[in-house]
Amino acid sequence: MDTVNSNSLWQQACEHLRDALHADVYSRWISVISPVRAEQDTLYLAVDNDFYQSWLEEHYLPLICDALRAVSGQDWKIAFTVNPVDLFSFSETAVQPKSEASRTLRERLLPRRHETRLQLNPKYTMSTFVVGPANSFAHAAALAVSEAPAKAYNPLFIYGGTGLGKTHLMQAIGHAVLENNRARNICYVTCETLLNEYIDALQKRSITEFRKRYRTVDLLLIDDIHFLSGKERIQEEFFHTFNSLFDAHKQIIMTSDRPASEINGLEQRLVSRFEWGLVTELERPDFETRMAILRFKQREMKLSVDEGVLNFIAENVRSNVRRLEGALVRAVSFMSLTQQPLSLEALKRLLRDTIEQEEQAALSLSDIQKAVAAHYDIRLADMSSTARPRSIAVPRQVAMYLCRSLTPSSLPDIGTAFNKTHATVMHACTTIQNRMDVDQDLRRQVQDISTKLGKNIHASATAL
Ligand code: ADP
Ligand code: MG
Repeated sequence: MDTVNSNSLWQQACEHLRDALHADVYSRWISVISPVRAEQDTLYLAVDNDFYQSWLEEHYLPLICDALRAVSGQDWKIAFTVNPVDLFSFSETAVQPKSEASRTLRERLLPRRHETRLQLNPKYTMSTFVVGPANSFAHAAALAVSEAPAKAYNPLFIYGGTGLGKTHLMQAIGHAVLENNRARNICYVTCETLLNEYIDALQKRSITEFRKRYRTVDLLLIDDIHFLSGKERIQEEFFHTFNSLFDAHKQIIMTSDRPASEINGLEQRLVSRFEWGLVTELERPDFETRMAILRFKQREMKLSVDEGVLNFIAENVRSNVRRLEGALVRAVSFMSLTQQPLSLEALKRLLRDTIEQEEQAALSLSDIQKAVAAHYDIRLADMSSTARPRSIAVPRQVAMYLCRSLTPSSLPDIGTAFNKTHATVMHACTTIQNRMDVDQDLRRQVQDISTKLGKNIHASATAL
């Protein structure tokens, strides 16, 4: 049977189905199918993606077969094929959908897939990510994952303080995977959006669609996973999503502002899964990297800024790349407004707020150690000693916990300050965090010390 015949066969079957189905259902599920060819007793039908395919197979296959039998007097097997109209071509090139109805339909049904590309910031690519000692490991892991999704490290868990490039690096993986054609169906979503969609799905009783949407992707990028903290139902849901993707050898990448074990109220089974693959930290960039980032951004903005200005910014803005960029933009806008070079004095004035924020952020590890030692009336040297009497063990853990909560220092840096390994620091943080949930005294002590340090532990913990 040739193409014309498969067309007319399908047209007749459609007439039949139109009568049998509700108009909405027909337009939603049947009108989007196009016949490809008929071979022997098999009719090949094309749909735009595997979501349609599995839905049709699960729900409408018998009905379609009945219709074909009714109009042709013979039994047909159905083979669905997925049109090569993927994320790329759909959002970027002029592939014309079959009809306006089916276009809006697709948009309605598959918002996430359609938006994926749009939601990836075009600026956040590998080529715009400046690599230095603080992020080279994370960057190498990201490259490995983008070259071999689900084969190199699965899941990939990237954590680090605010503004250190987590979102940038994660999206860069998304771009690279798309460019290399390693996966077609990519989903980038912030954990907050995921939660909102989940709540929406619960309310609209469309949880099946929600699950399908997330369980059928090839690459799932979830930004700011620490948002799961204390939210039990979405954790349960995510646990199953994670398992089904992982079992199907699909890549999962997550970012978080802290290691999984330090996310308060995160189920243990999720913590352990998040640690199955590779866990990597983005640390604060050193001076050279900060300069390299500034030079890069200046080239990107096609501007030339005095080295002295770049130096001043790199010296003074240490904790956060976003802030570093902000400072550069401020300096540049000032210069272009006044059409004058920027004196050091003017620059200091201009960046006063930023520098103040930096100073506030720059609570040192030893400030914390001193405050904790004073509070518990122990010697400062006890903080980094290897002795383990209980009288010092708890204060030391409290100090490590505060260093982690109140400064952007990395676990290894804190470890060094206490003469301990980063695993010990991590353990201390989890222990104190958990104990504070049940031990009011301890909670008060921790709060008192942070107040003395001019910090609010609750505000800091959530803002981290
Ligand atoms: P996070 O998600 O960790 O809070 P972002 O990924 O949003 O941080 O990064 C904040 C800003 O800093 C972005 O504009 C990003 O492009 C930039 N940035 C961070 N790290 C780098 C880097 N290594 N090279 C270039 N730009 C960077
Ligand atoms: Mg981010």
